[in-house]
Amino acid sequence: MERKTKTIAIANQKGGVGKTTTVVNLAAALSARKRAVLVVDLDPQAHATLGLGLEKEAGVSIYRVLTGEKSVDDVILPTKWANLNVIPSEVDLAGAELEFSARPDRLEMIRTALAPVKESGAFDYILLDCPPSLGIVMTSSLVAADGVLIPIQAEFLAMDGLALINASIERIRSGANPSLELNGIVFTMVNSVARLTQDVVGEVRSHFGEAVYETTIPRNIRVSEAPSMGMPVVFLDPRSKGAEAYKAFAWEFMAKNPTRFAAAAVASPPPPPPPQETGNAPTV
Ligand code: ADP
Ligand code: MG
Repeated sequence: MERKTKTIAIANQKGGVGKTTTVVNLAAALSARKRAVLVVDLDPQAHATLGLGLEKEAGVSIYRVLTGEKSVDDVILPTKWANLNVIPSEVDLAGAELEFSARPDRLEMIRTALAPVKESGAFDYILLDCPPSLGIVMTSSLVAADGVLIPIQAEFLAMDGLALINASIERIRSGANPSLELNGIVFTMVNSVARLTQDVVGEVRSHFGEAVYETTIPRNIRVSEAPSMGMPVVFLDPRSKGAEAYKAFAWEFMAKNPTRFAAAAVASPPPPPPPQETGNAPTV
């Protein structure tokens, strides 16, 4: 099957906004819909790696491809779930900002590293989990991406944070990656009863219109518990509110980002959830 791969960077210079949680669960939900997914963990904290059930392992990460020690095929690992693969992170990636700051190809380095994977057509989606800073790794990720997905929390000064990342996107568009799209903005950890939340969501929607995903992700305890089990909540507890939201979000994402392989399948709306049978393990 010939595929056109979409590379999406999940980015926000702020930490703790739900980037990694969104990468892990979007990837899980897409893979459950038979889309071939590659997660690239670009944060030295390696939370996406751990959240997908893999261990950090020295020598196996995108860092080794950037240094030329490994070919990209050597660092793509399968997870225990079908269609879901990871390029892990490792602690040495923390030195990348400094180490690569003088590299003439620093803006293109991630695009170059991933080019063979993209060209192979082996994946529908490559999801880049960016570190929480506007440094070289994030910038280089945005240069490598077709689109950028911004998870944000509905809180005071949310618009200021969006303005910052938008400025980075504009800078990259006017230079190394003119076709970079704003894939969208997704609200995470939403407390639907809080007045401030509603105000912020409304304000962002009025500024960014259709770029804001309809689906919002609620704050949900099961979402925060899942990483310690090394499982996406979408697989750990598929009927939890958080998992249901990420599955709905994945449908919206697929409709917005059809790949050649995915386009036909996404044309129909999602099927209603099957009736829950008590006593059986829930399925995705
Ligand atoms: P980032 O990658 O932007 O730093 P994370 O995805 O690691 O953010 O999320 C930060 C923290 O918030 C983590 O402890 C995570 O488990 C928790 N979290 C993320 N999304 C939710 C949610 N919807 N409900 C509850 N906790 C969440
Ligand atoms: Mg993270």
